[in-house]
Amino acid sequence: MTKKSPITPTIPFDQDGVHHGFLKLPYSRDDSAWGAVMIPITVIRNGNGPTALLTGGNHGDEYEGLVSLFKLAGKLSPAEITGRVIILPAMNFPAFLNASRTSPIDKGNLNRSFPGKADGTVTQKIADYVLRHLVPEADIVLDLHSGGKTLDFIPFAAVHVLDDKEQEARCVNAMKAFAAPYSMMMLELDSVGMFDTVVEEAGKTFVTTELGGGGSTTAERVAIADRGVRNLLIHAGILTGDPDVPDDSGVMLDMPDGNCFVASVSGGLFEPCVDLGQMVTRGDLIARVYDANRTGGVPTEYKAPRDGIVACRHFPGLIKTGDCLAVIAEVVGK
Ligand SMILES: [Zn+2]
Repeated sequence: MTKKSPITPTIPFDQDGVHHGFLKLPYSRDDSAWGAVMIPITVIRNGNGPTALLTGGNHGDEYEGLVSLFKLAGKLSPAEITGRVIILPAMNFPAFLNASRTSPIDKGNLNRSFPGKADGTVTQKIADYVLRHLVPEADIVLDLHSGGKTLDFIPFAAVHVLDDKEQEARCVNAMKAFAAPYSMMMLELDSVGMFDTVVEEAGKTFVTTELGGGGSTTAERVAIADRGVRNLLIHAGILTGDPDVPDDSGVMLDMPDGNCFVASVSGGLFEPCVDLGQMVTRGDLIARVYDANRTGGVPTEYKAPRDGIVACRHFPGLIKTGDCLAVIAEVVGK
């Protein structure tokens, strides 16, 4: 038998108006015997119509989406919309408060925890609730990511190659409507347990993003998120108005195979030799890694595995063996 989720919303999902509240998840612990994790949520509804589920903070240190959705929750009025917008800006709320990718409570990586468990860890309980109670309500789902503390990306919206081509086309159209500077057909090396995977399996129109990173954000990147979210809501028929599509947006990128990823095979001091957004040719020097413990050694050199654009780079100044050093994506046009 399917277990009941311990999470209860403090606001209604089916009433018109703006409702700010919480998903209340009981969590008994040393500093709060009968305490709860209170995950902020906003539901804005105006009559019958499509529902968009907007999520950020799936990873707690990815700030572009977090900032944009906190902002939107305070600004969007029911008079502007038809249907419903569910805003969950800090999905893995304990991770967000801890400024970390994963939860400090159970080390749970929410984006590897789906479908989750009603009687599992705190992170598994969040996954279970979102999948069983929020995703079924939605016609379109947008999950905003960026690189967090360890990666930095050129700003792109992304979808996956799907078996169902009708669904894939819906997702691609929504991705294009978002109008990020880049649009990516994304390859996942590790898709088991991802929110993306379960939402796509539920047949929903799903768009994700990587909008920057480095464990902070910039005005430009937040503006890309703000614009994209509004464009997506217009595309979904929820928000009225004209989409804002800059001329230079929507450069199409592809990650056709695992050859796009460059993993570090040495640890030490990281020297990027190319920057994000730069075009490279196969064999170009893209980074050096120096032995951090002595001078005078020969650095390990990393070469571009293919022609393309530097879409992602390792962010911190130190790097470990096995870290993602860079992603070289293929530019396939507009
Ligand atoms: Zn993420």
